[in-house]
Amino acid sequence: MPDVTSKNYRIVIIGAGVSGIGSAIKLRKAGFNDLRIVEKSGSFGGTWHDNSYPGASCDVPAHLYSLSFAPNPDWSIHYAGQAELLSHLRAVADEHELSEITTFGTEIVSAEWDQSSCCWRLGTKTGDKMVADIVISGLGQLNRPNIPAIEGLETFEGTTFHSARWRHDHDLTDRRVAVIGTGASAIQFVPEVAKQAGHLDLYQRSPNWVLPRVNPPYSQARKWAFRHLPGARRLHRAAIWARFEGLVGPVFNTGSVANKKATEAAMKYLTAAVPDDGLRSRLVPTFPIGCTRILASSSWYPALRQPNVDLITDGIERIVPDGIIGSDGTHRRVDTIIFGTGFRTTEFLSPIDFRGRDGVSIRDQWQEGAEAYMGIAVAGFPNLFMLYGPNTNLGHNSIIFMIEQQIRYTIELLDRMHADGATDLEVGREAQDTYNQWVQKQMKKRVWLADCSSWYKNDSGKIVNNWPGSTIDYWRKCRRPDISDFDTGR
Ligand code: NAP
Repeated sequence: MPDVTSKNYRIVIIGAGVSGIGSAIKLRKAGFNDLRIVEKSGSFGGTWHDNSYPGASCDVPAHLYSLSFAPNPDWSIHYAGQAELLSHLRAVADEHELSEITTFGTEIVSAEWDQSSCCWRLGTKTGDKMVADIVISGLGQLNRPNIPAIEGLETFEGTTFHSARWRHDHDLTDRRVAVIGTGASAIQFVPEVAKQAGHLDLYQRSPNWVLPRVNPPYSQARKWAFRHLPGARRLHRAAIWARFEGLVGPVFNTGSVANKKATEAAMKYLTAAVPDDGLRSRLVPTFPIGCTRILASSSWYPALRQPNVDLITDGIERIVPDGIIGSDGTHRRVDTIIFGTGFRTTEFLSPIDFRGRDGVSIRDQWQEGAEAYMGIAVAGFPNLFMLYGPNTNLGHNSIIFMIEQQIRYTIELLDRMHADGATDLEVGREAQDTYNQWVQKQMKKRVWLADCSSWYKNDSGKIVNNWPGSTIDYWRKCRRPDISDFDTGR
């Protein structure tokens, strides 16, 4: 019986970022028209909507960091900035008229599998209900800001915000600012904040390896060629992909020559960029390059040398109403604290109370660490497909390549369900376990397991975010779903 109190859809996609936009376009092309995107914010763009901090840009060249079926010949520069990336994504969504199938400003907070009707019952934060036969998660891995529980934070009388929730209304001119964290986001916004602030205290827990970034603009002639000779654009994209795959990929193999050479290059750059021995000694990581994300910036080290910037490496004891007390007892007065402390990356779907077959909670199932089959399907959770799920993140190439494989794979499974007249489809537990044993075995060769703190690891040190192979390996595995690994109902 149809549920008359809820809105009913064949497919609900959660999130209107790259995954949501890409999957909606491809699903409609494949004939799945009864679908709805549900997005908690007010706009398309996902991470590029959320991360609007000054200096935000992508560390993968834009010609590769874009959906292959929605190219842009007009990228202004190799590593595009947030505004250009966001406006491209919005243009793609507009071109495909996705607004008409998207509900903005609505956060899904619960999802319960109803076995008797073979559907998902979704609940929103405001108490509305939806019913979907199929749920596709486009939540990704980097959508929940991490604000560390530092003692006294609630007593601070100034302004605090996270890099992914930038307070553009808070003018930093001449302010005394503290930035906590020195990861991929901080290295982009700190140089911009340093230009404005009167004084900047930068709290670093662990230094990262940094390489310089060369970012030339595209000439008018190249843009013309990319627009009028699609082969030239495709060749350029393929060349970037091959360079990342062939040259950067091997850096992540523990003890490899490529890893040694990259460490030397980063050390050489640090030595040239920071002549002061005292400052430099505090910027040398203790772990091999690649254990954390390799950062690329030509403005980070120069910013640290500015007279109004202090690098603080002694740690934080507590926050007080007018500043921060360091572990050595020093009281530093600030009126603004910016958290560059990353995201709650190992939770995946957990922000939503997902309950699968027999009411089993995904939070309980993932207590030892999130696991999925191909990063897409989870045993006990029928008709649920994740994009950019567990163990699909990359350190060396474009995540959009991975997301496109997942979209294609999911659509093949849906086609199969449709052709077989199946009401539900669920990966088998054994297939999922065998796959994950293989993933963790492959992981042993990778540098992420070295002794560093990174968002790729959960509390027990298991790598739950990264894919252990090349993008070709993943493409091969996703090429054709092995339907024998799935159970279907009728
Ligand atoms: P992140 O790389 O995880 O960095 C978080 C920083 O906060 C680290 O320096 C960490 O120190 C520090 N931190 C965390 N908890 C702390 C605490 N309790 N006390 C003191 N320091 C603390 O986060 P992110 O910079 O937001 O970047 C996350 C990911 O987003 C990146 O790796 C990347 O994949 C993506 N991103 C991409 C781009 C791009 O160009 N495509 C740009 C920005 C971000 P430890 O190192 O000691 O843990």
